[in-house]
Amino acid sequence: MFKNYNMELQRVLSKESFSKDEIKFLLQLENRDEIEELGKKAYQIKKEFVGNVVYYRGLIEFSNICTKDCYYCGIRKGNAKVNRYQVTYDEILEAAKFAWENKYGSIVLQSGERSDPKFIDLLCSIVSDIKKLSNYELGITLSCGEQSLENYQRLFDAGAHRYLLRIETSNPVLYKKLHPNNADHSFDTRIECIKYLRKAGFQVGSGVMAGLPFQSIDDLVEDILFFKEYNVDMLGIGPYIEHSDTPLYEYSNQLLKKEDRFYLCLKMIAILRIMLKDINIASTTAMQALHLMGREKGLRFGANIIMPNITPLQYKGDYLLYEDKPCIDEDSSQCKSCLEIRIKMTGDEIGYGLWGDSKHFVSENKGDAK
Ligand code: SAH
Ligand code: SF4
Repeated sequence: MFKNYNMELQRVLSKESFSKDEIKFLLQLENRDEIEELGKKAYQIKKEFVGNVVYYRGLIEFSNICTKDCYYCGIRKGNAKVNRYQVTYDEILEAAKFAWENKYGSIVLQSGERSDPKFIDLLCSIVSDIKKLSNYELGITLSCGEQSLENYQRLFDAGAHRYLLRIETSNPVLYKKLHPNNADHSFDTRIECIKYLRKAGFQVGSGVMAGLPFQSIDDLVEDILFFKEYNVDMLGIGPYIEHSDTPLYEYSNQLLKKEDRFYLCLKMIAILRIMLKDINIASTTAMQALHLMGREKGLRFGANIIMPNITPLQYKGDYLLYEDKPCIDEDSSQCKSCLEIRIKMTGDEIGYGLWGDSKHFVSENKGDAK
C-alpha cells in the first residue's frame, strides 16, 4: 500500500504541471520523507528557472495606522490596545539608506491601509526621495493595501515598481468570514485592485494565508489555480497565526497544529514553484514564527526572496499582525549577519545589490532586469 502511494508521488512529481486532483494529493501528503521529496523537486525547478540566488527586500513597516478591520489582523482598526505609530520621514529615509548601503537591492514599504490624499502624497514623496538618495539603484515594492487606479498610478510614476496585495483567499465565501461584511472589505474590490496594479505597470505580488479557520484543502487548491490564472509575478504564502485581540481568535481551537500549518505552507510554496516556475516567491517572516528555521526551509522548498526587517527598532514591537513575531528585539545590523549565516547554510547565494525582479514579469514584458 505504502509502496503504491509512493509510486503515485513519483508519477505526479514527474509532471510539468498538475491537475486539481494532483494538487490536492500533494497538499495532503503527510509523510515527512514524501514532503521532502516534493521540496527537492521544487528546489530543482527553482535552480533551473530562477537560480539558487536569494534576493533581499529590506522591509520597512512604516505605519501601523489602519482604516480596516480584517478579523485576523492584530493591527486592525478595532484593536484599541495597539500603540499607533508613523515612522518619521527622516527615519524612513535612513532605513532605506541602510538597505542601499548594505546592498539589499530593494526595499518593501508596508503599512496599514490608508487612502486619504495626505497619505498618498506622503508616500509618493517618500518613494521619489528614496529613489533619489539611492541614485535610483534601490528597487521599491509597496504593500499598502487597496487603492484607486489613480493612486496606484501616482505611486508607480513616483518610482515604485512592485506591489504586494494578497487576496488572502480566492474563495469569496471564506473571504466574507474573514472580514466585516461591508463595502470597505469587498472581495470584488480586492480582485479589481489586482487588475488595477497590472494596469498601472506594477509587477504584481499576491498571496494567501494557509491554515485559516474555515479553510479547506479544496480552497487552497483553488488558490493555486487562481494564481496561475491571474498570472502573478510574485507570491507570499504565509501561515495564519492567531492573535488574541482579534475576532478570529475565538476559532483558534479549530486550527491545525502550528507544525502542520507550517508544513502546509511549505507544500504550497513547493507546488507553486513547480507550476509557476519563474515567479518570485517569498519565504515569509510568519514561516519563521512557526519554526526556528522556517525561512531557510522555505528557500529549500522553492522560495527565492527574503525580507529582512529594517524597521527602526523602537517601532518593531508595535507592528504585530500575529503573535510570536520573531526578531522584534534585533536591530537591522543584527538581522543582517544572522540571516547571512542562515542562508549560506541552505546552499543559496545572496544576490547583493540586485533588484532580483520577477523573471516571469521580465520575460512577459521583455523588460530589463537588474
Ligand atoms: N495593510 C496591508 C499590508 C499589511 S498586512 C494589507 O493588508 O495588504 C500584510 C499581510 O499580513 C496581509 O495581507 C495578511 O495576509 C498578513 N496577515 C495579517 N494578519 C495575519 C495573521 N494573523 N497571521 C498571518 N498573516 C497575517
Ligand atoms: Fe489593516 Fe492590512 Fe491588517 Fe487588514 S491586514 S487590518 S488592511 S493592516
